[in-house]
Amino acid sequence: MKTRRDFLKLSALGAGILPVSNLYAAPAQSVHKPIVISTWNFGLNANVEAWKILSKQGRALDAVEAGAKIPEGDAKETSVGLGGLPDRDGYVTLDACIMDEHGNCGSVAFLEQIVHPISVARKVMEKTPHVMLVGEGALAFALANGFKKEKLLTRESEKAWKEWTKDAQYKPVANIENHDTIGIVALDENGNLSGACTTSGMAYKMRGRVGDSPIIGAGLYVDNEVGAATATGVGEEVIRIVGCHLVVELMRQGNTPENACRLAVERIVKKNPDKAKEVQVGFLALNKNGEFGAYCLQKGFTYAVHDVTGNRMFNSKSNF
Ligand code: ASP
Repeated sequence: MKTRRDFLKLSALGAGILPVSNLYAAPAQSVHKPIVISTWNFGLNANVEAWKILSKQGRALDAVEAGAKIPEGDAKETSVGLGGLPDRDGYVTLDACIMDEHGNCGSVAFLEQIVHPISVARKVMEKTPHVMLVGEGALAFALANGFKKEKLLTRESEKAWKEWTKDAQYKPVANIENHDTIGIVALDENGNLSGACTTSGMAYKMRGRVGDSPIIGAGLYVDNEVGAATATGVGEEVIRIVGCHLVVELMRQGNTPENACRLAVERIVKKNPDKAKEVQVGFLALNKNGEFGAYCLQKGFTYAVHDVTGNRMFNSKSNF
């Protein structure tokens, strides 16, 4: 049995080798920051905008909002914001959410006629006692806060929808632009994480359908102690496993971002192996040390990473 005297001797020995303050401290890990990562090829341009803020010691929250607004405002991107493909009745309906380093979050779903749902989600977070506003209520709130109504259905998206109505088959095709969400998460110079996620959802969805993207914990989750994650792909599969919360909790248990994403993808496969073969889901994660990783069901999920060394694309590993 160790006596108190032995313990003191041991402590003295330890103190002789290491400075006392380091005796029980975790090994110092270098933190890779600032950094921003985002889904799909349009993530590159989103990152450029986010980097303007991060590189000037700006806040991750401002960076992810600014980044998300780029594909939202781009009429050529048919899966986010302006120019998004409509639901099966021809209406463009938007879902978005945002989360900051304090665990504050805001969300809008089934929002129509507003180009930047991510900024409305931020206002919900900052100006209301609620987390989520939907449909008419979200629109009224947006208008009351200075957002302007705009027509979101472009001539090209309307043409694609009319073509679709000819046989009206709802078959989401993996990796092509009848879906694809911008999910963007960042770690700023102060070591704080935030994330944003915005989409027009699955093209030709039923009217009123809401996917994972505006659901905190499903399409996006941020825990400033651990990391942040975002998702893209068929939202129903992501909601069923509360995907991004799962990814963050897996990182908390010590998994790397890529492993956490892989384990979440494997959860989807395990629950519904047949469905998993047909659809795409991708997760993208960033931890508190600035390490990032992704994993998806089907090959073809790309993501963009911007840090001090530049802005570049990666191909995610896949289950199939
Ligand atoms: N997750 C989106 C949704 O289900 C679509 C996507 O990211 O592809 O609405």
